[in-house]
Amino acid sequence: MVIMKVLVVNCGSSSLKYKLYEMPVERLLAKGAIERIGEKGGSIKNHRQGLESILKEIDGVQAVGHRVVHGAEEFKEPTLLNRKVINKIKACCALAPLHNPANLEGIFACSDILKGIPQVAVFDTAFHQTLPEKAFIYGLPYRFYQKDKIRKYGFHGTSHEYVAIEAAKRLRKSILKVNLITCHLGNGCSITAVKKGKSVDTSMGFTPLEGLLMGTRSGDIDPALVTYLIQKKNMSTQDVDVLLNKESGLKGVSGVSNDMRKIKEAAQKGNPRAKLAIEIFVYRIQKYISAYLGILGKTDAVVFTAGIGENQPQVIKDTCRNLFDNLKQKPKVMVIPTDEELMIARQVYRVVSRE
Ligand code: ADP
Repeated sequence: MVIMKVLVVNCGSSSLKYKLYEMPVERLLAKGAIERIGEKGGSIKNHRQGLESILKEIDGVQAVGHRVVHGAEEFKEPTLLNRKVINKIKACCALAPLHNPANLEGIFACSDILKGIPQVAVFDTAFHQTLPEKAFIYGLPYRFYQKDKIRKYGFHGTSHEYVAIEAAKRLRKSILKVNLITCHLGNGCSITAVKKGKSVDTSMGFTPLEGLLMGTRSGDIDPALVTYLIQKKNMSTQDVDVLLNKESGLKGVSGVSNDMRKIKEAAQKGNPRAKLAIEIFVYRIQKYISAYLGILGKTDAVVFTAGIGENQPQVIKDTCRNLFDNLKQKPKVMVIPTDEELMIARQVYRVVSRE
């Protein structure tokens, strides 16, 4: 067994999180985060400087794993980085202009600082590349898919895959034999139907905006609302983008916060809009779970994870109340803490040992 120190790097637009593991024993050796990168008042100018300061503290890194948000149809699995692969990730920037450039900055900085150390990209979209065409093609003229790659991609793939594997372990079954519905409920929220270990449908779409009500994202709306807002309310496309991604969801409906803890507090004090926000949140999850139960047929478990899924038992109780009453074989309900970094470390270990 080869022992390997794997550094997992997650570069956001203004943040950098890392964890260092000893693999394959999965021992966490170090972790940390740098916030407010490049912002006024922050001491770290860019991701490179951030990584330099981190790598002063830790040594012996033998492989690096990078979380990359969008791998489009190019990347169906974790991939060892080289110039050709990096160029393909660059090409995916058009589909994820807010995320992929920051991920690439981390990749470039690590290539410079840790010359010769193998680096692996692990994509948020990869797990959903098994979706069948009927699940990922939108009802638009087909050329928009062929020419412009407009389709459902899905996100949070690393988290869905991790909890699916852990659920199969708890069920004492092979992942290839279980049907699951995995619910990642954090600030961003998504649900995935997993059939015999493979993602067959997921609630997020071309971007993370589709699907469930989220902290600040609207989730599903009538698409005609976008043109209505532009034409009748004189909003710019930028305004609408901000409205749907940053001002909507739990925050927009409740008028209190995007944080479920604060909304619950307000609801308990009788705030009607806070109550409504929670009702919509739960109702939307119920609709997706019900749809996926229909698609999957016999379902072994419904799994809840991430901030709300792991820490808000009342939300799970409300969601599951009466939901399975008409089923002959009821799925187990599980709460499994997600660990995207560990999943990335496992993938890196697998790819690098193979090479
Ligand atoms: P992100 O998607 O940004 O990683 P999280 O997974 O932490 O966010 O999810 C954020 C949501 O989870 C918030 O609505 C918050 O209220 C809820 N949450 C996080 N931690 C807790 C906790 N310890 N107790 C209750 N709710 C929590």
